[in-house]
Amino acid sequence: MSSDNLACPSTSDLRTQPVAALDKEGIGPAMTSIPMIACSTSLSEHHSGGSGTNKNKQMVEQLQRYGVISSKKVVEVMETIDRALFVPDGTPAYVDSPMAIGYNATISAPHMHATCLQLLEENLQPGMHALDVGSGTGYLTACFATMVGPQGRAIGVEHIPELVASSIKNIEKSAAASPLKGGSLSVHAGDGREGWPEHAPYDAIHVGAAAPEIPQPLIDQLKPGGRMVIPVGKIFQDLQVVDKNLDGSVSIRSETAVRYVPLTSRDAQLKGY
Ligand code: SAH
Repeated sequence: MSSDNLACPSTSDLRTQPVAALDKEGIGPAMTSIPMIACSTSLSEHHSGGSGTNKNKQMVEQLQRYGVISSKKVVEVMETIDRALFVPDGTPAYVDSPMAIGYNATISAPHMHATCLQLLEENLQPGMHALDVGSGTGYLTACFATMVGPQGRAIGVEHIPELVASSIKNIEKSAAASPLKGGSLSVHAGDGREGWPEHAPYDAIHVGAAAPEIPQPLIDQLKPGGRMVIPVGKIFQDLQVVDKNLDGSVSIRSETAVRYVPLTSRDAQLKGY
């Protein structure tokens, strides 16, 4: 097993990781999240060898050990969907850090994927509808489809057509190939700020890029009883949890400070924000 696998890098490694282009203000790397796992485990402890599937499992075990994942369902889905199938070739798949995927975008760090899955777990029950805005590599869309099952619906919306195409290839190689084939999972090219009205209302909405403010169409497309997890802010961002109550009113709370790439126009993103 190579030394870049299953590493829980030191905080300084994470800060200096060249994961993406500079953000709009040019103050530093625009990562999809602030790494928050305090890692004290050395790499050598994980040199146990094994297949990619085993390494993925070990990554999930490590997230459990660090207290990031407590949900059995989240463990199951993250073990089922191998992260290595979603990162570009040559990118260390199991390091707890965001990684560049081209087009000034990143795949979020495993601990952020885990956090968002856990926050949305109750709204990703079999038969439910889930929307993944800024679906990027398709990793979370694949997780959502696995959780909501064949009677449910998982929709990814991504505004870079090349990422839509590569995400579909990633999903085809993964354990979520069958929902893709069966039609309960689909990925679409479009401006995610408009949501995806065709399969609304959604029980769960995940937004993988930071919005200056919560887009109204996404609130409108949330089902009463539904939950949206969305990073909000420009440089300083909060991961907000938006619950639509049964009377249609909305409750919002901040879960944690994060750093995501912006939810913006395609032009702005391709120009480097
Ligand atoms: N959850 C994804 C995150 C990808 S990074 C993953 O882990 O793979 C955020 C993504 O949001 C990028 O792929 C970017 O292209 C996309 N994005 C940004 N603004 C968007 C918009 N207005 N509409 C749709 N996608 C958008």
